[in-house]
Amino acid sequence: MKRYFLQTFGCQMNVHDSRRIVEALDDYGYQATHDAGTADLIIFNTCSVRDKAEHKLVSAVGALRSLKKKRADLIIAVAGCMAQQYGEALLKKIDFIDLVIGPDNIVELPCLVARVKQAARPLVRTVFDLDDPSFLRARAAPRGNRVAEYVTIMKGCNERCAFCIVPTTRGSERYRRADEIIDEIRQLVEGGIREVTLLGQTVNSWYDPDQKEKREKFAFAYLLRRIALEVPKLIRLRYTSPHPGYLTPALITAHAELDLLPWHLHLPVQSGSDRMLKRMVRRYSRNSYLEKTQALLKARPGLTFSTDFIVGFPGETEDDFQQTLSLVREVGFVTAFAFKYSPRPNTPALKLGDPVPESVKNQRLERLFELLEAQQSAHNKSLVGTKTRVLLEKANLKDINSYSGRSHRHEIVHVEVPAGIDFNGRLVEVMIERANRHSLIGSLTGNEIATRAASNGVLISSPDETSEQTHNSEAMV
Ligand code: SF4
Repeated sequence: MKRYFLQTFGCQMNVHDSRRIVEALDDYGYQATHDAGTADLIIFNTCSVRDKAEHKLVSAVGALRSLKKKRADLIIAVAGCMAQQYGEALLKKIDFIDLVIGPDNIVELPCLVARVKQAARPLVRTVFDLDDPSFLRARAAPRGNRVAEYVTIMKGCNERCAFCIVPTTRGSERYRRADEIIDEIRQLVEGGIREVTLLGQTVNSWYDPDQKEKREKFAFAYLLRRIALEVPKLIRLRYTSPHPGYLTPALITAHAELDLLPWHLHLPVQSGSDRMLKRMVRRYSRNSYLEKTQALLKARPGLTFSTDFIVGFPGETEDDFQQTLSLVREVGFVTAFAFKYSPRPNTPALKLGDPVPESVKNQRLERLFELLEAQQSAHNKSLVGTKTRVLLEKANLKDINSYSGRSHRHEIVHVEVPAGIDFNGRLVEVMIERANRHSLIGSLTGNEIATRAASNGVLISSPDETSEQTHNSEAMV
């Protein structure tokens, strides 16, 4: 049997694409291995959003040079954003790569590997499917214990944030038809999936391409409502990453009305300074961002936020950075991804240079993390003694009583369960007993919270609970 080794860098979109690669290779009779030394095919699914990710890839592939020398039949493939960005040039940069394959061509991977073997020469395939977009679909029956899956609803990006390479590596926006999205989610749920995360670079800019003329009516909030109504057995529906510019009143209302939307939103902000937001071409102000988070909190009290930050963007002063820190306090972010600015090829910000010294970037990043850690720790401690809903997933295959899951607000919760009962994919009520820095420890209260009704798309509670009580137990937290 042929073996493959796959390493994934970067965002959820790449994790989703890698899962589809695994399924495609599975269909072609490949078996996964964790040891690159024993593989017939090695694939790196890459990210180029920051130069650090690129360096990691170059060193990971570079380490294979001697293996490739010993085994001429070994195929090394580079997929994803770096493949799209560099194309042919990647073969010059790393001269023993066999296959360079862009994100829109991933589905062709097994065939392209066969062609490389046949032709005995490297191949590059990085063509955007702009006219007739196709979307990778998860296999209907998931494998293992997985209870959560990603579903792509759009790809590419029409924004032109000054620092971002994504419009180059993923192309312009293409939207998937609502019927196709719902059909995939329905099949996943039939196969045991309980939570779906809708994916897109600016996921909430989606509209149904079949309804282009009425795009405002058939926009993202419409999709959420249709999923809630037409896939009643789905327990949770997340989405990432939204752009604050598309956080419409209709979407905020959906958060108030749809029980399957979680009480957490990852809403990238990048900076708390209006001057920086303007230079980054983010198309919103600090105030409009704050107004939207406040409106969401009003719609769904108890909702928590996480975000993305870039520190040291060209021209960022100490005063600009102070405004970022004050925004962290004002919104009360519980977590964030924060990075030092690094110039990327083909981005508008290149012309601004990289004037903020590395030492200043490092120091600002450290101060930002310190504040975020303190807020996360305080938030976690505030949950001790409260009850929350957790969707359980088998954590540790060796310890059969140990489960982990995500709460409705996305905190990681570890729970011990009674022996001999399968809790995988069950939504349970947990009493939080201890708070770690990044996770919570709890025990089952004995209440299985809810299943969604088979036909009407609303959340119904277990027999001894009303829907209102379910809300109240969350509101205590
Ligand atoms: S919205 Fe901006 S940061 Fe996000 S993918 Fe598009 S260009 Fe990049």
